[in-house]
Amino acid sequence: MKIGFIGLGNMGAPMAANLAKEHDVIGFDPVAQPQGLKLAQSASAAAKDADVVITMLPNGDILRSVAKDIYPAMKQGAIHLDCSTVDVESARAVAAQALAAGLSAVDAPVSGGIGGATHGTLTFMAGGPVTTFATVMPLFDIMGQKAVHCGDAGNGQAAKICNNMIVGVTMIATCEAFVLADKLGLDRQAMFDVVSTSSGYSWTMNAYCPAPGIGPHSPADNGYQPGFASELMLKDLNLSQMAAIAADADTPMGQAATALYRQFVEDEDGRGKDFSAMLPRFESRRRS
Ligand code: NAD
Repeated sequence: MKIGFIGLGNMGAPMAANLAKEHDVIGFDPVAQPQGLKLAQSASAAAKDADVVITMLPNGDILRSVAKDIYPAMKQGAIHLDCSTVDVESARAVAAQALAAGLSAVDAPVSGGIGGATHGTLTFMAGGPVTTFATVMPLFDIMGQKAVHCGDAGNGQAAKICNNMIVGVTMIATCEAFVLADKLGLDRQAMFDVVSTSSGYSWTMNAYCPAPGIGPHSPADNGYQPGFASELMLKDLNLSQMAAIAADADTPMGQAATALYRQFVEDEDGRGKDFSAMLPRFESRRRS
């Protein structure tokens, strides 16, 4: 396949590099110029002859502007595969524009981070026509280990923000429980041994434990270097709340988690730290 890859940042560059081992890939990014990849001078030049154009961009506004730029240049019947994490509304808007332009679009945000992008082990959650999903499946196979079709346009983004809302809320619950346990004189290893095998178990406790030296190796064991940075968790929580407002869904825990991560990132020292650094944050505080 001929692939145009637009947005060659932390995630896009390694994903494009993996695809380039098996396909003809031409990339574009106004800033990043990764070595070893064929590069175009503009987004529309990268998109012009492509069977599939993949975008990996920071947000919905940039996605909309790139879509506006590249759709007139793309071949009829070509596919736009957006792997960025963006708001559901932007994903649905560009999918409608793609259809009107004689193209097909799939939103397929990812889980797995920079490590998953590098090692080709991402999970994709996809929204859009099932036939288009099937056509791009070989690309998912190269870039990832699993792809789930979640329904119509925007449903990939919906799955992503619902998942990450659970993870954000659960991380906070796990961290505050550790701090309560500390203050009650409960040993952290004992706390882990009980909770990880009891009804309080979760991914944040069992697989990504925020307490250093406890459980499997995690960013807590590496000075809270991300991993998954707190500001990226805040981005996804903000998207979950935008969607909840638009859909009139009552999400009080998601709302509280968004407020806490906003405070951590914007007013405290959370930016650049893994999102599990909520544990030392709680440790440094008292009940107010
Ligand atoms: P990044 O900031 O490293 O990369 C984004 C790239 O887009 C940058 O290189 C930037 O120059 C480029 N860009 C900006 N405007 C552009 C334009 N108009 N045309 C072309 N390129 C443009 O971000 P990232 O970490 O690679 O994340 C990309 C997406 O993946 C985001 O939506 C993010 O939420 C999502 N994501 C990231 C992670 C992660 O761990 N980093 C995990 C899952 C999902």
